[in-house]
Amino acid sequence: MARPAHIQVDLQALISNYQWACQLAPNSQTMAIVKADAYGHGAVACARALEPHAPAFGVACIEEAIQLRQAGITKPILLLEGTFTADEIVTAAEQDFWLMVEDPWQVDALVKAKLTQAVKVWVKMDTGMHRLGLAPFRFEHLLPMLENSPNVADGILMASHFACADELQNPFTKQQIDFFKTHLPQKAMPFSLANSAGIMAWPEAHGTWNRAGFMLYGNTPLDGAHSSNDGLTPVMSLNSAVISTRHIETGQGVGYAQSWTAKRPTTIATIAMGYADGYPRHAPTGTPVLVNGQQAPLIGRVSMDMVTVDITDLEGAGIGSPVCFWGKQLTANEVASHMGTIGYEVMTRVGLRLPKVYV
Ligand SMILES: *Cc1c(COP(=O)(O)O)cnc(C)c1O
Repeated sequence: MARPAHIQVDLQALISNYQWACQLAPNSQTMAIVKADAYGHGAVACARALEPHAPAFGVACIEEAIQLRQAGITKPILLLEGTFTADEIVTAAEQDFWLMVEDPWQVDALVKAKLTQAVKVWVKMDTGMHRLGLAPFRFEHLLPMLENSPNVADGILMASHFACADELQNPFTKQQIDFFKTHLPQKAMPFSLANSAGIMAWPEAHGTWNRAGFMLYGNTPLDGAHSSNDGLTPVMSLNSAVISTRHIETGQGVGYAQSWTAKRPTTIATIAMGYADGYPRHAPTGTPVLVNGQQAPLIGRVSMDMVTVDITDLEGAGIGSPVCFWGKQLTANEVASHMGTIGYEVMTRVGLRLPKVYV
């Protein structure tokens, strides 16, 4: 019998979350963001499931885009950070990868590249996140360079990215939208502002294109209650099973450094899942885990390949009992909050060793 730790991916839920993103923004086209191996869900399988629905995909780098092309994905793929080196531009043009242009060197390299076909360009404006993007004062010089270059396809799009759109009460998103609209070089220019949080909570940010990432995987990026949360179903379940149990006495310790000691006679379940699977080592005692569908607290240190859970209060749990670390019944967001991080991080980290099972 194989090690029971695995990632289950519900592709039907992925499609329905994608359709929800489209429904929330009926006048926009919705790009499916599948960077970071589709946030840990497997980029090829997710893109194949979404390709009949999504008109384009977005990834973080050309290696991710090439992986999709090699798997037979034919829709356009946007490189969200553009190219990292000038020679990637040639491959991008050949493969119908769209390029984000966010720094003056990229404009220069694109105009100078020797291409046989023009490439579709999204120009990123820095509207206040101050991570990537061109400051608007550069447009006067740089936009004509792009518009007049045979390397650049007609219909340049203007894009930007939100710093705080997940925070429903944060006024900065409105400031970014206003800044963007004020500095848009032409009123009728196609544009793209909204990530998942923008799609879900900031309808005035909906553009020609929206860029749906995290929401596709069925957890909300928003920091509070919102009607747009209702259409999301978690896609990933991080699963395993109990591989050993034991009873210990009050005062006995469990695991490395004996960081947890029993305050009562306790039943311990050991589960095949560890930090080498991407389950965070800093998950503290008390992080919820579902054993046999019932919540139990993680205790002691997360090991490389195993964790321990206190199942004293559970009914009928034992060797072979199914375990879920997050999924539909216990969300990745909720578990991540115990670990001092966010659903985005825990999801993207579990893909390395674990087999994926698609349903
Ligand atoms: C990752 C990314 C997105 C998707 O963001 P989510 O919050 O996951 O929806 C959108 N745009 C850019 C530029 C990105 O890098």
